[in-house]
Amino acid sequence: MVKYLDLQRITAKYADEIHQALARVADSGWYLQGEENKNFEQHYADYIGSRYCIGVANGLDALIWILRAYMELGYLRPGDEVLVPANTYIASILAITENGLKPVLIEPRLSNYQIDEDLIEQHLTERSKALMIVHLYGQCAYSDKIRALCERYGLKLIEDNAQAHGCLYAGRKTGSLGDAAGHSFYPGKNLGALGDGGAVTTNDKELAKVVRTLANYGSEKKYLFRYTGRNSRLDEIQAAVLNVKLPYLDQDIELRKQVAARYLLEIRHPGIQLPLVTDRGQHVYHIFPIRCSRRDALQAFLESRGIQTLIHYPIPPHKQACYKEWHNLSLPITEQIHREELSLPLSPVMTREEIDQVIAAVNAFD
Ligand SMILES: *Cc1c(COP(=O)(O)O)cnc(C)c1O
Repeated sequence: MVKYLDLQRITAKYADEIHQALARVADSGWYLQGEENKNFEQHYADYIGSRYCIGVANGLDALIWILRAYMELGYLRPGDEVLVPANTYIASILAITENGLKPVLIEPRLSNYQIDEDLIEQHLTERSKALMIVHLYGQCAYSDKIRALCERYGLKLIEDNAQAHGCLYAGRKTGSLGDAAGHSFYPGKNLGALGDGGAVTTNDKELAKVVRTLANYGSEKKYLFRYTGRNSRLDEIQAAVLNVKLPYLDQDIELRKQVAARYLLEIRHPGIQLPLVTDRGQHVYHIFPIRCSRRDALQAFLESRGIQTLIHYPIPPHKQACYKEWHNLSLPITEQIHREELSLPLSPVMTREEIDQVIAAVNAFD
């Protein structure tokens, strides 16, 4: 059986160091907002190339806090519009509605699944205040055109970098390209903790301060509450695990790219579309998405051959029960992606035989 993602094997790769880190925190008597957190924030800021990094409880909170901080700072008001790709994972959109802001769903391009920058301008109104791009599947969604649009129309550019740690755009990392970025360290992400974790990166000192305050009960100083915040901190155990894994991230991404390179070269099937990659640095293959009009049959076939796959994602946000107001929207590209997408197993711990098996099985589908 080829697992979609073997988290046990991923953790086993760094088992000694992780066990040491866990013991170190357990024995230290200090479990929140300590040295591990401080070190991680500094190392991750350096890695991404941002001035500030704030560890938070998870990736959804990271995005929530960025928008909330812009509200506290007066850049955003309730009802303002935030443009966001329609085919993203629901967290990007939840962060917008959670803050009483209005998501404006933009169709992606079918070629690379990233927001169609040519559709942005026609969706702008005088309430448009921010654009959230999502580096979906680990592929860079940023472009010079997006930057130019944000500058021209005064939009804050927020990056959802939950799937793309380590991804490059012209030598710079995603997560350092916009005004602020949210990152997730959910166990299955390219940089994953042993539980939930997240971070905000930004070069904006004021924003960084407000995010840090919001995620700590809204308190800058003990027992003084400036905002109605929440408890949303990255704990020392998770920070310690991330400190172990961060130095290996680029190496792991390289291994992901090697698996992807084989899939791109060796999967040959007239009914299957492989992901379009224009520049090697721009994809870190958090997910290897293929498309097939007979997706469900393909998934069942691969399952019968012992290969586990996932769908990212089966139902688009605008068709979810929680967003009834959008059920009548017509977003044909998004809907087609959700109908046809299938994610192949891809991780830095796959063996050569497993990769061979996936390729042979996909090519044998008829
Ligand atoms: C995982 C993910 C998130 C949320 O991260 P959590 O840590 O699970 O809260 C946000 N956006 C995208 C695109 C994601 O894939």
